[in-house]
Amino acid sequence: MHAIRLRIVEERCSADLLPGMKLKKGDEIIVIVGKDKGRKGKVEKVFLKNDTVFIPGINVYKRHTKKRDDKHPGGIISLPKPIKVSKVMLVCPSCSHMTRIGYKKLKDEKIRICRKCGQKINS
Ligand SMILES: [Zn+2]
Repeated sequence: MHAIRLRIVEERCSADLLPGMKLKKGDEIIVIVGKDKGRKGKVEKVFLKNDTVFIPGINVYKRHTKKRDDKHPGGIISLPKPIKVSKVMLVCPSCSHMTRIGYKKLKDEKIRICRKCGQKINS
């Protein structure tokens, strides 16, 4: 119990390694649940506040709009939305398996590693 709490505190210290948000811009991911299940993409934006990531082409909603005037003819527009981090998994650049992210502490930096092959995941 104690060890777990210590680890969380440690992770909170560094802004970009908040618990739950291990993905970074440029990471390749695969969607594991929902309508886009099985689709791959690249993280373009990370939203730490609500644990979501934006991946182009993933989680696109179609919205029907009514015609308002000539400038807004209406129809169906595609609206990509950020997706919950829990719905995606990282695809390791080294072994290309989907994997959870682990951490390894080097001298003065903490690096992300693939839990499957142990290779460093570039950030
Ligand atoms: Zn790997």
